[in-house]
Amino acid sequence: MRSTGALTNGSVNYICQSCKAEELIPLDVVEHFDFLDGGAPLDPPKFSCQNCHSEMVPEYFRSHTGIVYDNRAGVKEDKQI
Ligand SMILES: [Zn+2]
Repeated sequence: MRSTGALTNGSVNYICQSCKAEELIPLDVVEHFDFLDGGAPLDPPKFSCQNCHSEMVPEYFRSHTGIVYDNRAGVKEDKQI
């Protein structure tokens, strides 16, 4: 059974908002930063792109607080009535 998340082997796929580079961050690292960043529970932990130093955001990440960050812009819901 495959879950709905984009988690791959316990990692979170981060995407650079500028150059679209992707990087897998270990889930425990992301959760660690998410825990440290407890003052802004609506803001996902972010990392800097190694290519262009822009902000990287998680493609999909479910926080320990139950908040789901979903930035899969390429995946549009195609609902038709
Ligand atoms: Zn970049």
